[in-house]
Amino acid sequence: SCGICVEKCPFDAIEIINLPQELEDEPAHRYGENAFSLYGLPAPQEGQVTGILGPNGIGKTTAVRILAGELEPNLGRYEESPDWDDVLEAYRGTELQDYIADIRDGEITVARKPQYVDQIPNQFDGNTRQLLEQTDERDALDNLVERLSIGPVMDQAIEDLSGGELQRVALAATLARDTDFYFLDEITPYLDIGQRVTAARLIRELAEEEGKSMLVVEHDLAILDLLADTLHVAYGEPGAYGVITPPKSVRNGINEYLAGYLDNENMRIRQNPIEFEEHAPRTATHGDVLVDYPDLTKSYGDGEFSLEVEGGEIHRNEVLGIVGPNGIGKSTFAKLLTGNLEPDTGDADLNLDISYKPQYVTIDQPMRVDAFLSSITDQFGSSYWNTEIAQPLQLERIMEQNLSDLSGGERQRVAIAACLSESADLYLLDEPSAHLDVEQRVQATSAIRRYAEQQDSTVMVIDHDTYMIDLLADRLMVFDGEPAAHGHAGQPQSMRNGMNEFLANLEVTFRRDERTSRPRINKPDSQLDREQKREGEYYYAP
Ligand code: ADP
Ligand code: ADP
Repeated sequence: SCGICVEKCPFDAIEIINLPQELEDEPAHRYGENAFSLYGLPAPQEGQVTGILGPNGIGKTTAVRILAGELEPNLGRYEESPDWDDVLEAYRGTELQDYIADIRDGEITVARKPQYVDQIPNQFDGNTRQLLEQTDERDALDNLVERLSIGPVMDQAIEDLSGGELQRVALAATLARDTDFYFLDEITPYLDIGQRVTAARLIRELAEEEGKSMLVVEHDLAILDLLADTLHVAYGEPGAYGVITPPKSVRNGINEYLAGYLDNENMRIRQNPIEFEEHAPRTATHGDVLVDYPDLTKSYGDGEFSLEVEGGEIHRNEVLGIVGPNGIGKSTFAKLLTGNLEPDTGDADLNLDISYKPQYVTIDQPMRVDAFLSSITDQFGSSYWNTEIAQPLQLERIMEQNLSDLSGGERQRVAIAACLSESADLYLLDEPSAHLDVEQRVQATSAIRRYAEQQDSTVMVIDHDTYMIDLLADRLMVFDGEPAAHGHAGQPQSMRNGMNEFLANLEVTFRRDERTSRPRINKPDSQLDREQKREGEYYYAP
C-alpha cells in the first residue's frame, strides 16, 4: 500500500513526489476495481471558454461524458452506483451545483468535436455540404464556411478531404449546432497558424456573443492562451488516475504547467521546467554545409499551383524549422529534395539519403510495433536506442500492440521513432506535434534535437506549433505566397529574421510573459501589437 488509497493501492507504480490532496477525497468517478479514477471535474461557465491542459489518457473524455449527462458519476462507489440526487448532494455548494441539477433534469445538450478527425470518413458517407447541412441549427453555416475557407471543398466527398480540411469541417459542424455546451477536443492538428487563430476567434465569439459554454482541450499553448478565459490543469498517471484542478487564470495555469509545479495544489508534476529564451536563441550555426541546393521551380497541371524555391544551404548538424501556411508547397519542396518529384527547372539531384515522416501518418499494417521498428533498424532494443528513442517517445507501453490499434498520438510517436531510426543524411519530419500532448511534444522535441547532435545528422521539421518550433529549430525557412495558387520558399535564415518575416506575413505579434519569458500572442491592434509591428519585432521583442 502506498498510503493513498483506503484499502490497497490499485496501481503498481505511482511516482509522485507529494500526494495530491484530492486523492484522499472521493473521486468523481471510478470505472471499477483497479480501474481508472477521475478526481475533480471542470466547471463550464456560461459565456466563457474553459480550457483543460493535460496529458492524453488523464480522464478528459470521461469528464465530458459526465458533463454531457451520458455517464452518471459513481463518486467512486462502483459497486452500488449513486443516483443523480446523491451526486447533486455531493456537489452542493460547489461551482458545479447548478450545472449538475440541470443534468439531472435532462436539460443539458452538448455538441462535441472528436479528437481524431481522421476517423470521421469511417462514420459519414457523403460530401461536405450534406454533413454540414445536418448540423446547421444556428443558421451560422455561411459565416463558418467563409471564415474557415471551406467553400472550395463543399461538394467534395468527406473521404477525399485532407486532414486540415477535415479539421475545419468538423469544427464548423460542431459550432453550427445550437446547444448549451460545446466540447472541442483539440482544434489545431493539421491547421496552420492563420487557421488556428481563426478557429480560436470563432470559439470566442460563440461564447461572448451567444453566451455559450465552451470547453476546449488544446495542446498548442500559444493558441490555448489566446482562446481560454480560465484553465483547469489535469495531472496524474495516464490510464491509472487523473486529477482535474479547480480553475486557474490561463496565465497562471500555463506558467505553472511549464514550471512543472502547481502553486495552489503544492504539487510537482515534472522534474524540470520548460524554458524559453528571451532573445533569439542559438545564432545561426556555421557548421559544414551538408547540401547546397540551387533555385528550383515546380508547377502542377496547367500551372494551377506553382512553387519557386530560392537556392540555399542546409548545414550539417542543424535543426532547420520550416514554417508557412497550408497549401503553399512545403511538401512539394520535401518531395523535390527526396527525389520523389522532378523539378521543372533547376537540378535537385542532391544525392542525399533522406528519411521522411509525412504529415498524415498511415502506418496501419496488422503488425506489432516492436516487429515494425525492429524491421527498420538493427539498433532496435540496444540501450542507446532505448534511451534516445524509445524512452522519450514513450514507446515501451505500446511495443506489443498492433499498428492498426494505435491511437493518433501513439501512431505519431511510432512514426517519429521509425523516421529517426533509419540511417540517413537528412531527417525530414512533417508536423510531428499533431496529436501529441504538451509533455510528449517537449520530449519528442528534445529527442529530435539530441539525436541530431549525437548522430551528427541534420533535421528539417515542418510544424505549426510556434512553441515547438522555437524550442527545436536553429534556423528557419519561411514559405509565403498564396495557398493553392503559388508559393515562394526563402533561403534558410536566423530564427530572429525568420520568425519576424513569417509573423509579418500573418500580422501576428508575440510579447513575452513577464514571469517566464514565454511568448504570448498580442491582441490585434493593442498598443504592444502596434509598437512591435512598427519596429519589425514580431517575435523576440522584450
Ligand atoms: P482522455 O480523454 O484524457 O484521453 P479518457 O477519459 O478517455 O482520457 O480515459 C481515461 C482512462 O479511463 C483511460 O485509461 C481509459 O482506458 C479509461 N476508460 C475510459 N472508459 C472506460 C470504461 N468504460 N471502462 C474502464 N475504463 C475506461
Ligand atoms: P503544403 O505542404 O505547404 O501544405 P503542398 O506542397 O502539399 O503544400 O501543396 C501545394 C499545392 O499544390 C496545394 O494547392 C495542393 O493541392 C497542390 N498539389 C499538391 N500535390 C499535387 C499534385 N500531385 N497534383 C496537383 N496539385 C497538387
